Amino acid sequence: MATKPPGTNANILISGAGIGGCIMAILLGRAGLDYLVLERATAFKRLGSSLTLSSQILRLFDQLGLLEELKERVALKVNGMTTLKQDLSLIGRTPTEYFEERYGYGTLGVARADFVEFLLSKIPSDRIQWGKRVLNVEQDDEQVTVYCADKTKYQADILIGAEGAYSPVRQSMFKYLTEKGTPPPKSDLAPLNFEMFCNVGVATNLDPKEYPVLNKENTELDAILANDLPFTVWLLKLSGNRIAWTAGGKLLSRKDKSGQETLRASEWELRTDEELAPEIRDFKVYSDKTLGDLIDKTDPELISRVMLEDKCFSTWYAGRMVLIGDACHKLMPFGGQGATQTVLDAACLASLLHELPSTDMASLNQAFSAYFKHRYPSAKAAYDSSQMATSLTANRGVMADAIRSISLKYMPDKVVTMLMDKLNGERPIVSFLPPPPDRGLLKSTSVPVSAFTHTKPTTC
Ligand SMILES: Cc1cc2nc3c(=O)[nH]c(=O)nc-3n(C[C@H](O)[C@H](O)[C@H](O)COP(=O)(O)OP(=O)(O)OC[C@H]3O[C@@H](n4cnc5c(N)ncnc54)[C@H](O)[C@@H]3O)c2cc1C
Repeated sequence: MATKPPGTNANILISGAGIGGCIMAILLGRAGLDYLVLERATAFKRLGSSLTLSSQILRLFDQLGLLEELKERVALKVNGMTTLKQDLSLIGRTPTEYFEERYGYGTLGVARADFVEFLLSKIPSDRIQWGKRVLNVEQDDEQVTVYCADKTKYQADILIGAEGAYSPVRQSMFKYLTEKGTPPPKSDLAPLNFEMFCNVGVATNLDPKEYPVLNKENTELDAILANDLPFTVWLLKLSGNRIAWTAGGKLLSRKDKSGQETLRASEWELRTDEELAPEIRDFKVYSDKTLGDLIDKTDPELISRVMLEDKCFSTWYAGRMVLIGDACHKLMPFGGQGATQTVLDAACLASLLHELPSTDMASLNQAFSAYFKHRYPSAKAAYDSSQMATSLTANRGVMADAIRSISLKYMPDKVVTMLMDKLNGERPIVSFLPPPPDRGLLKSTSVPVSAFTHTKPTTC
C-alpha cells in the first residue's frame, strides 16, 4: 500500500485499465497516493492495432525513468508519415526524423497491446481488480460509492473515470449534475458524432524476405487511399516482424438481413475475419502483397471491428468524480493524438492531486477546475486537428485531392515546422518528481499551473 503524503488522506479509485487508467495508476503510485484500479475485462487481451506516442509525452516517460525500457521493449522510432494513392504512388510525406534533435524526443510507434502491457507491468498486481464492470456511481459530501456488475461496491474520496468513450462515470456525473439542478450543456448530452468504421489487427510472424519493410531499422506510418471510395488503409511496421494494420471508411458499414446496423456503439470488440468486407482483401498494400495477405497472418480472435466516434465534452468533473482520456475527449485515431492527450490528462491531474491539501468538496473542486482549465484547450485543439487529419485522408474528389497536395506536398517547410513546434513545444512533466533535462533545441513551453496558492506551481 502506498504511503499517503502529509496533509492528504486521498483514497482514489480509477475506473478502467486502458492507457489512461494505467498511466494514472503509475503516476499516483509515484506520487505516493493510495489508489485502486477497477477494470471490466477479466484479463488483459492483446486487442487493437498501433498507436503513435509523440514527443509531447516522452519527456514524462523520461522523467519516470521508463523511456529507455519503452524503446527497447516495445517501441520503434517513426521516421515520418507517407500518404500514397491506391497504386502506391506518392501523394506526400511528413517527416518526423528531425523531432529528436528539435524536441528532444522522436515520435515512437507501438502496438497498442504492447504499450498497455508495458504500463500494466509497472503497476503492482494488487492495485488492479479485474472483472469489475463499473455500472453506477453515487456520491455525497463525504465519499463516492462505485457499484459494479458483480454486485461489489467500493468507496473512496475520489473517482477517476478512464473507461473510454462510453464512460459510466461520465453518465453518473451527468445524472448527479442534473439532480442538483445544474445539468451539463445539451451538447454534452447529445450522442457522440459517428461517421466511420474500421477494422484493426496486427499481422505476426511475417517473413522479412516477403515484406522488405521489416528489414528497416525504424518505422513509418503509411496511409494508402482508395481511388474513389472513402476508404483508407494505415500500416505501421512493428518490432518482431509484425505489421499493424487499420482499414477504415464508410465502405465497411454492414447491415444485417433486417437492415439493422450490426455493430454496437464504440468498443473495440472482437470480430471474425469473415465479417471483413470481401472487397478490401484485394487492396494492394505493398507491391506484391494485399491487405488480405496481412489479414491471413493476423489471429482472427484479435481482429477488432470498431465504430469510430468523436466528441470533445465540456463537462470533465463533478463533485468527487473526474474524467481523463476518451471519457472526456474522444478523438478520431488518424491524428495520432488519442493516447498522447490521455497521458497529458493523467500527468496534469496527478500533479494537482499530489498537492491537494484536503479531500473536502471545495478543495476537489479547486483542483479539478484547474485541471479542466489547463487541459481543455489542448484537448480541444487536438480534437480539431484530428478532425482535419481525418478529412485529409477520408475525403475524395477534386477539391479533396487539391487540399491533400497543398497540405502534404506543397506546404512550405517553414509552415510545417511552425505547426510542429506548436504541437511538440509543450512537453509537460509532473511536479512531484525531479525534472529530467530539457532536451532538444526548442525548449519546452509547458506552463506551470497550481490550484492552491500555498503550494509551489505545478508543471503540467
Ligand atoms: C481494446 C482497445 C483497442 C484499441 N485499439 C486502438 C488502436 O488500435 N488504435 C487507436 O488509435 N486507438 C485504439 N484504442 C483507443 C485508444 O487506446 C484510446 O483512444 C486512448 O488511448 C484513450 O485511452 P483511455 O484510457 O481513455 O481509453 P481506453 O484505452 O479505451 O481504455 C478504457 C478501459 O476501460 C475499460 N472499461 C470500459 N468500460 C468499463 C466499465 N464499465 N468498468 C470498468 N472498466 C471499463 C476498458 O475495458 C478499457 O480497458 C483502443 C481501445 C481499446 C479499449
